[in-house]
Amino acid sequence: MPTYEYYCEACKKSFALFLSLSDAEKKKIACPDCKSRKVKRQISTFQTVTSKKS
Ligand SMILES: [Zn+2]
Repeated sequence: MPTYEYYCEACKKSFALFLSLSDAEKKKIACPDCKSRKVKRQISTFQTVTSKKS
């Protein structure tokens, strides 16, 4: 299951959640710390393997 990283604009903290893709798209993500919904999804780097150059 992929890890989604979020950044809370309210308390300036980042956190990670384990979600399925559909959950990540549909659910209202709230900060676990301050319960704010002003969160931005971060690009998770370690799941993404860029192999454009061979
Ligand atoms: Zn927060």
